[in-house]
Amino acid sequence: MSIASNINDIRSHLPEHVKLIAVSKFKPVSDLMEAYNAGQRLFGENKAQEMTAKHEVMPKDIEWHFIGHLQTNKIKYIIPYVHCIHSIDSAHLLAEVDKQAAKHGRTVPCLLQFHIATEETKFGFSYEEAVEMLQSPEFRTWEHIAIHGVMGMATNTEDNELIRKEFRTLKNCFDRLKADYFPQQESFREISMGMTGDYPIAIEEGSTMVRIGSAIFGARNYQL
Ligand SMILES: *Cc1c(COP(=O)(O)O)cnc(C)c1O
Repeated sequence: MSIASNINDIRSHLPEHVKLIAVSKFKPVSDLMEAYNAGQRLFGENKAQEMTAKHEVMPKDIEWHFIGHLQTNKIKYIIPYVHCIHSIDSAHLLAEVDKQAAKHGRTVPCLLQFHIATEETKFGFSYEEAVEMLQSPEFRTWEHIAIHGVMGMATNTEDNELIRKEFRTLKNCFDRLKADYFPQQESFREISMGMTGDYPIAIEEGSTMVRIGSAIFGARNYQL
């Protein structure tokens, strides 16, 4: 199967309202260009320098989505061009994104990452922590970020019912935040959930963005 046919195959299974983010981390630009030539315009990366290097050499109509754990000292590399940061996992990080975005005269769309998996290793807010941030006086002073929704990763497991339960938790976080903090904000509408192994369940549970890597580009070689 080629990258183009993988993309076309996945697209044929996605409802109209679900965006496909091609997760291209660890993959060479030639692979990304194959996806681009198949019409793909949304790419996801998890390292600031790798994404920036790819952004520099690739066509400028690509939307770059940052999906990995972001260190504050790396924010400055991606702020000039990033389309959306999916992985805001602390108030401190959001404050730093706001600061850098202000320097560039931008308002950067962000998603709040929630810790929905049973695995300890994953990053993200609890619901209570997110609420604490949204209610804080500082939050209202951050004019260079815009919260567009939520993101989460389910446990890496064969247990589909557990995965479904975790996605439901994220959808529930979204619904409560929407009602309590963003009722008038139309741009608060994204639920970024679903990867190669679990995206059909994510879509059933309300995903608006799936982040798919291996089903498009093949297995990753982390040694590269
Ligand atoms: C790598 C990654 C993906 C894509 O994973 P696949 O299983 O290859 O589809 C999605 N989301 C995040 C946050 C990732 O780091």
